[in-house]
Order: sequence, then C-alpha cells, then structure tokens
Amino acid sequence: QKNLFSHLTQAPSDAIFAIMNAYKADTSENKIDLGVGAYRTDEEKPYVFDVVKKIEQEIVNDPSLNKEYLEIEGLPEFNKGCQILLFGKDNPLITSGRIVTAQCLGGTGALRVGFDFVKRHLQGDVYVSNPTWGNHNQILDRVGLNQINYPYYDPITKGFNCKATLDCLSQAKEGSIILLHVCAHNPTGVDPTEDEWLQIADVCKTRNLIPFFDCAYQGFASGCLDKDVFAVRKFAELGFQMIIAYSFSKNMGLYNERVGAIHILTSSQDIATKVLSNLKMVIRTLYSCPPAIGGRIVSRILCNDNYYQQWVQELNVITGRIIKMRSLLKNELDNLNVQGNWDHIIKQTGFFTFTGLTPQQCDQLTQDHHVYLLRSGRMSMAGITSKNVKQLVEAIKIVVQNK
Ligand code: PLP
Repeated sequence: QKNLFSHLTQAPSDAIFAIMNAYKADTSENKIDLGVGAYRTDEEKPYVFDVVKKIEQEIVNDPSLNKEYLEIEGLPEFNKGCQILLFGKDNPLITSGRIVTAQCLGGTGALRVGFDFVKRHLQGDVYVSNPTWGNHNQILDRVGLNQINYPYYDPITKGFNCKATLDCLSQAKEGSIILLHVCAHNPTGVDPTEDEWLQIADVCKTRNLIPFFDCAYQGFASGCLDKDVFAVRKFAELGFQMIIAYSFSKNMGLYNERVGAIHILTSSQDIATKVLSNLKMVIRTLYSCPPAIGGRIVSRILCNDNYYQQWVQELNVITGRIIKMRSLLKNELDNLNVQGNWDHIIKQTGFFTFTGLTPQQCDQLTQDHHVYLLRSGRMSMAGITSKNVKQLVEAIKIVVQNK
C-alpha cells in the first residue's frame, strides 16, 4: 500500500498543553507553573471539591443508576439546574420555555456545538476579541466561520478599550455574531464595567448583532455567582436572542469530567422546540449524547440546597485565594522595586493576569528561572503561592531589567 499520510506536515502543538508538558519534564524543585488554567492550592496541589467527592460516592452506591444512554441533550435536571444558575431562579425565562439547553462536553464542547449550529443555521461573520482564548480562533477556523477581531484590550492602560470596541462593532454587518466573555476574560483578566456592558448591548441592538457568550469562569471575577453573570442576565432582560456556552471545569473543578452546557435563548416556546430539534441533530452527529457522571455530579450540586451551599463555600475559598495572590504578587513587586507600574495586577480579575511581559521576557523566565507561562505574558494566578511568590518576583525583576 502506498504511504497514505506522507503529505502531512507537523501541526502546531497547542500552546497551553505544550507548556504543561514542558513543566512536567522540568526536574527543578523550584519550577513554577503559571501556564495551566486549573486551580492549585497554596501547596501547589490540584484540588477536588469535597462536595464532588461526596456526591461521587453517592452515585457509585446508587442502585437506581445504570449505564444506559442519556438523551441527546443530556440530563433534564442538569439542564434545568444550569438554566437557574445562569439566569437566576426567579427569572421568568426559566418557565417560559424559550431557553433551549443541552449538556455538552465541557465549555469547549459547548462552543463547538454552538458554532456548528451557527454555521448551519445562521451564518454571518464572528467578531472575536483581540486577544481571546486561543481555542476560540481554532474552533471557528475548523467550523469554517469567518472571524473578525474587535480591539478589546488596550496595551497602554492594560484595561478594556471600550471606545475602540464600540467603534468596531458599530461597523459590523447586520446579523454578525459577537463572541463575548461573560466575565474573567481569558487571557487578559479585563472585563467591561456594568455601564460598558450596557453600551455594548446598545450597539448590538442598533446593528442587529447576535451575542454569543462564553461563560467559563462564573464565580471567579467578583467572587459572587450572580454578579459575574450580569451581562447574560442584562442582555436577556433587554430582549436579546442569544447563545451561551457554559463550562463547569473551573467553578466545580471538573476539568477532566468534561461538563458544560449550551443555551440558546429564543423568541418563543414554539421556536425553541424547533431549535432544540436542530441542536440535537448537531450533537447526534458529533458524539451522539453526553457522558453521565459529570452531569450527575453537577445536577446534584445544583438541585440540592445543602450541596449547593457547600459548593459555594468551597468556591469562595478558591476565588479568595486567587484574589489574595493578586495582592501578594503586586506587593512583592513593589517591595522589590521592580521597574514599571503593576497596578493592573490587582485591577484585572479572574484566573489570569495579562502581565505585559514581552515574549522574550517570558522565554527568559522559562529558560533561566523555571517559570512556565504563555508567551503572551498571561499568568495563571492559581499557580502563585505564598511560598513561590518571592522567587517569582525576583525572576521577574531580572528579566525586566534585562529589557
Ligand atoms: N472558554 C474559555 C474562555 C476558557 O478559558 C476555557 C478553558 O480554559 C473554556 C472556554 C473551555 O473550558 P473546558 O472545555 O475545559 O470546559
């Protein structure tokens, strides 16, 4: 047989997974992992929520459960719980029948299902923040949707460039899709204020743009679950039809269980029924139906008051540690008189800080100081601990001076 695959060239490795592997291969005892977007304790250990462990045991011992296929759209109690978490329990939309929800394979799976649906049933250009999470660009590329950048991040202020964003969106073709991070923007940690969200909503309304929200960090920006989804609830209240891709990887620490959801907010119950039937066609041909364990864990947390309270408490500890690491890092940078202004570290929110370090400085941090981070200068705050912060800041001081 002739060699079938010899024409292939090497595809680029995923930047985040490449960093993860380089970190694992480093034998230094002082290595610091600021690449991965997963929570670490102050002892640099991965964390499994106690409430998740408890529910896992419960599920294993539950004689009423079996391994039969789930519905294409997943567990009904999961989907209902997700709607309540995102839109709020008293929101009339919950009982309106206008929201279509399907359980997906993490936030990535939800994005893929959502954009496959867009490609087939809406078309239109997709406006993507510059910068955005690298996988957004790759997913859109694979699905075959045209991407256009909107400015978003201002490298001078290291904040949100609202005016440039609004200017760009006000030129968008009607019917374009705009991909928005609900909170804790990845990679910049920079979010619009509530007032700025209203201005974005305004331009979306005027230009007839379709919001597509990515919600991967509910709870991580302000520390309050309700506040963090302000944008989604406000856009819903303003009457938008829209799509939301949701991830439980971070806020329930269920990274490898692959649990997420896609929501499509439609204009009527009748249309929702048709949308669901078409969404199911997308899912059926991609992976048929979702796996059960992660969905069962999430639905038991969301549908049981006790478990819900436990989850919120544990989540508060996690987000609290991340917020504390921001001020610790900023204080250390100031204490060691590291050149430059580092205020943005405490102004930015969520899992990441967009430090402003150059790709060369990041390379130097990795090569000379065993500090692993994306070349964009994005640092995962969860990789910083009360023990390694000093070593990290000493390394930053050296690379900044060498500029
Ligand atoms: N969206 C954003 C902005 C993310 O940062 C991530 C994960 O890092 C995801 C979506 C997808 O998360 P997952 O597929 O792990 O649930």
